[in-house]
Amino acid sequence: MSYLVTAPIYYANAKPHIGSLYTTILADILARAAILAGESPSSTRLLTGTDEHGLKIEQAAKKAGQAPAEFVASVSKSFEQSFLQFGLDRETLVFAHTTDPRHRQLVQTVVKSLDQAGLIYKKEYRGWYCVGCEEYKEEYQESAAAELNVEAPSCPLHQHPLSLVTEPIYFFRLSQFQDDLIRVIESQRFRIEPATRRHEVLSFLAQPLRDIPISRQRSKVAWGIDFPLDCDHTVYVWLDALLYYLTFSDETLDSTGAKPSFWPANVQLIGKDILRFHAIILPAVLLALDLPLPNCLLAHGFFTVEGQKMSKSLGNVLTPDSLLEALPGPLATEAVRYLLVTMTQVGEDADITLTRFQDRYQAELVNGLGNLTQRLITLAVKAQFEVENWQALSGSTTDEASDHTSDQTIDQTSDQTSRVAANFDLDQLKLDPNQPLTLTHQLEALWQQFEAINQRLSQSAPWLGLNPEATPAARHQAEQVIAEELNTLRRLVQVSLSAVMPVTAQTIETQIATLTPVALFPRLSTLKR
Ligand SMILES: [Zn+2]
Repeated sequence: MSYLVTAPIYYANAKPHIGSLYTTILADILARAAILAGESPSSTRLLTGTDEHGLKIEQAAKKAGQAPAEFVASVSKSFEQSFLQFGLDRETLVFAHTTDPRHRQLVQTVVKSLDQAGLIYKKEYRGWYCVGCEEYKEEYQESAAAELNVEAPSCPLHQHPLSLVTEPIYFFRLSQFQDDLIRVIESQRFRIEPATRRHEVLSFLAQPLRDIPISRQRSKVAWGIDFPLDCDHTVYVWLDALLYYLTFSDETLDSTGAKPSFWPANVQLIGKDILRFHAIILPAVLLALDLPLPNCLLAHGFFTVEGQKMSKSLGNVLTPDSLLEALPGPLATEAVRYLLVTMTQVGEDADITLTRFQDRYQAELVNGLGNLTQRLITLAVKAQFEVENWQALSGSTTDEASDHTSDQTIDQTSDQTSRVAANFDLDQLKLDPNQPLTLTHQLEALWQQFEAINQRLSQSAPWLGLNPEATPAARHQAEQVIAEELNTLRRLVQVSLSAVMPVTAQTIETQIATLTPVALFPRLSTLKR
């Protein structure tokens, strides 16, 4: 068995933004969850990387006074470093570059295969083109074909006028795959989530599907992969970018074109802005090549800041760095991981404000998980637990043991306490690497369990049993409660928290193992806010 989760590749023309960080952290959590569910790290992969060809990059490089290759190398490096800073698992991460020679070879092989299957033709094309999107805007195609002097429409995304481009280019017969696409999406053989996005794709597919351009004239876009059927053309950057999934999921790729070793993806994560590319075009190409489709395509929402779209002109762009700077302490990157992925239900839009980010840090990490950990370990120290054998007190000596009460000869009250502590199914709290849509719910459930430990401690007040005047029976019961809850915390951290906050989880485990309580998350100073 193997597990593959993919994030998109990001345009190497700027720094990472919060949206790309969100997708990539989500992917890392799923990869870690797969390993916790029994997958080995060597059979688990997280793909992401940078999209390094195309006109936009050619132009950005020119502006920076650099050659495109030099320019993308430095931008790509900063992307990788920025992501790694947020604790991506280096063992599973594959960071792809579309300028990699292996990728060029795969793209050219794919174009030749599509041509051999009769799925490529050349046609004079005139259309409205957005340089920002690097795509022809199909919705304005009629006016472009009919009238040269018509006023240029604006790109809805970039708000600047489209260019009217006329060029003979090569097309892929996307229209031939309309029925097949509807069939695999409706049957959920190709699962698109959330359901709103699936319906959006199906309603788009209710209209006749047009064939799409897959080459650009070299005179217009030189910075691209050579189009293997015509040396005056380069491969259109969207095809180049989408095929990244095939190149870099295949670690056995060689000149014989062996089958990808990790493909198909278990989960493909994208932002909803690139839904059509991933829900229609890529699956059509995969069907054409007779390759399997991903099991699940999940499109998440957009981020706004205080209710407004992030934009340079509004000066409200939040970067990964601005999130980090808002939080204190050595575990700040881990706090960002947790707070960012739980900002909204997976799949929905999210509004971020730094104040809310900090409020949640204070409530859920400082006062929640952090306090609980310190409170429990401090109690264990007060009870004079010994590092080697305190676990025996809880009646649970192994990680797997969930039935704490079966062969204990303890008094009635303490037996009930143990049952309360054990009264949840640990497996339900394991994050499911194949159900990304439920991730936020599962993390909410985890935090409810932390809160439940706190409440049980308040109710049973084990510190009373640690008083010198307490009876031996009361002391025994107090010790048992503390050991029990410490064990519960440790297991929650191991099976679930470690996917989201791996360093924090490790720190908590060490503190429990050595019975050394140290504050995990420093309080926000009033100055910082
Ligand atoms: Zn645009």
